[in-house]
Amino acid sequence: MSMGITRLSHFIGGQDIAPASGAYLPVFEPATGQAYAEVPDGDERDVARAVKAAREAFPAWSQMPAAERSRMLIDIADRIDRRVEEFAQAESRDQGKPVALARSLEIPRAATNFRFFATAILHDSQECFATDARAINYVLRAPRGVAGCIAPWNLPLYLFSWKIAPALATGNTVVGKPSELTPFTAWMLGEVCREAKLPAGVLNIVHGLGAKVGAAVVAHPDVPTISFTGGTATGAAIASVAAPMFKKISLELGGKNATIVCQDADLDRSMSTIVRSAFQNQGEICLSGSRILVHRSRLKEFSERFVDEVRSLKVSDPQLPDCDLGAIVSRQHLEKIQSYVALAKIEGGKIAWGGGRPRGLHPRCKEGWFHEPTVIVGLAPDCRTATEEIFGPVASIHGYDTHGEAIQIANGTRYGLACSIWTRDLERAHKMAAKIDAGVVWVNTWMLRDLRTPFGGMKASGVGREGGDEALRFFTEAKNVCVGL
Ligand code: NAD
Repeated sequence: MSMGITRLSHFIGGQDIAPASGAYLPVFEPATGQAYAEVPDGDERDVARAVKAAREAFPAWSQMPAAERSRMLIDIADRIDRRVEEFAQAESRDQGKPVALARSLEIPRAATNFRFFATAILHDSQECFATDARAINYVLRAPRGVAGCIAPWNLPLYLFSWKIAPALATGNTVVGKPSELTPFTAWMLGEVCREAKLPAGVLNIVHGLGAKVGAAVVAHPDVPTISFTGGTATGAAIASVAAPMFKKISLELGGKNATIVCQDADLDRSMSTIVRSAFQNQGEICLSGSRILVHRSRLKEFSERFVDEVRSLKVSDPQLPDCDLGAIVSRQHLEKIQSYVALAKIEGGKIAWGGGRPRGLHPRCKEGWFHEPTVIVGLAPDCRTATEEIFGPVASIHGYDTHGEAIQIANGTRYGLACSIWTRDLERAHKMAAKIDAGVVWVNTWMLRDLRTPFGGMKASGVGREGGDEALRFFTEAKNVCVGL
């Protein structure tokens, strides 16, 4: 280990464990392009050890009274809240996101995820069905055993905890696998669990590459439940392994989400949210509104006002308090974004704003991975740039003439994750919402999340739903008991 480099470890059976391979991968700070930590290059041996620890912890954890499990998970939430600044700084350094975003939204939400499911299990009820006067049926829901929870790099602790919390709350034990690009706050979570005296083996965190650690979790015969958030191609690979093993799988995958601006949209009220929906977290959000469909009567006005607002966004060192867009997570991902901007030009698009590396970055960031918020106009709505997931700060604006056409364009991708509709006419909004192929439709808002609501995507955006009762059911197995009278 070289000077100044933090060496992370697996968290298995309540202990910090070195990888069986003895090998480590560098972890980079996107804002500087420099390695600052190293993460275990885990493999199937580490996964086997974690699954064994999780299996051993399962009987006691699953039989613990719900109130006691709840108390421990709330303790974890409180400890994250108390260390919010430390977690936010770590998340920003690891991922490139503005520290202000991590501090105000993402780390508090990670704590809320634990608190939400910890309290949900205190207030749930079981179904009961009376069959005329002949029988009574009641439904038992039991935890399924060891859950594999695999998370992506864009909202690291937020999405990791969104899976771990319901799995643990319902009495499962967990083998978690954070992204190898952003492992730091997951490593810190292990420390928090130890402080909260979570019994050893209840939560295990194995680091490393998806193709090695993630694949080993998915293929392990003693992990019957897989909750995955990440790319669509990875989701397909996971399903192909898990389905023949009859595992229960939840897949939250990619998106290419439409923002529909109707002729009566109140732009004074909505423009800043529409801009945020395209560029928050450098556009690295599965729910980003990156294809903006505008009624042709407002197209010119909208495009000018949108570009005006985008122009004022500040791309900078994510540590600075006034940073709107930070750094892109990796060099490889930056190159993917750049390739889509090049493709947009070939496809006939015009760059209305941005398109390259921002100027005037702090000297600390001279080797960092940055991209301007980029607005593209003049593209056909069915071209690749407008229908494939870029997952970066790139949005395209398209005109439409009728609302039927807007729905057709919105539904014209392989994805079906989210959509936002901006209008003063709520009757129209309800009608359009019913016809949009997306798991989440927002009207005159974006990213407003009530954790009780179902969350997930249609088509290539995934299988299953997370959130509220959906998550509690996913992580449990229902058994109907029919008692004849
Ligand atoms: P990714 O699919 O490359 O990786 C996600 C996780 O899976 C990582 O931990 C990775 O190591 C692991 N992994 C990779 N290959 C694996 C394999 N063969 N078996 C098991 N695990 C494997 O995705 P990413 O690049 O980290 O994240 C970006 C993607 O995630 C985007 O497509 C984005 O839309 C999607 N995403 C979806 C949601 C949602 O809720 N629908 C939320 C956030 C991100």
